[in-house]
Amino acid sequence: MLADNYYKILENIDAAVKRSGRDPRVVQLIAVTKYVGIPEIKEAVKLGIKDFGENRVQEAAEKVEKFPDLSWHFIGHLQSNKAKDVLPCYSMVHSLDRLSLAEALQRCGDRFDLKADVLVQVNTSGEESKFGLAPEELPGFLEKIKPFERLQVRGLMTMAPFYHDPEAVRPFFRELRRLRDQYSSSDYELEHLSMGMTNDYVVAIEEGATIIRVGSALFD
Ligand SMILES: *Cc1c(COP(=O)(O)O)cnc(C)c1O
Repeated sequence: MLADNYYKILENIDAAVKRSGRDPRVVQLIAVTKYVGIPEIKEAVKLGIKDFGENRVQEAAEKVEKFPDLSWHFIGHLQSNKAKDVLPCYSMVHSLDRLSLAEALQRCGDRFDLKADVLVQVNTSGEESKFGLAPEELPGFLEKIKPFERLQVRGLMTMAPFYHDPEAVRPFFRELRRLRDQYSSSDYELEHLSMGMTNDYVVAIEEGATIIRVGSALFD
């Protein structure tokens, strides 16, 4: 069933990319494994999936340790004191949303002599339950973290609110793309837009997502 789900998603990605006249190679699928365990990850690896996402440090630790050669993406809210557990084993942090976390990642980068690929999380919907900077805070934040040479800001991430009709979230994805276009500069080439989950990844791709994060549609 995972295989069927996977191929169906690939088809949907392909169709969405074609519809919007984009290059199919630019959309990266992250398999979100927070609801599943080691056996499902093994199955996904057999299908050729290489990029995985987790949103909780503790719950993910065993999986990440078991498959150190996979590319792990940290997609959840990250406490600053956990940065040290994430930086060495994840290839990207999607949820940089405050200065104290940037400072923690910078310190860990120094300690492990590593650079951290990060995305800045923006709360494009303004929903109170969502983490992320308000859109108007983004330029000031990018300016403040410029001296943090351990951080490599690769783009932006957002989580849309849940609506049964995925069309309803299109404006939030469009807003993230607008911010990317507005604030990309010689200092920050914001190439990535991490947006779109099970319910809305097709709309996200139409709006320019380069990374989609899909859990339920793959593993259910
Ligand atoms: C759980 C989660 C996903 C995947 O959600 P699905 O709806 O199961 O595809 C994507 N992004 C984040 C940040 C998540 O926490």
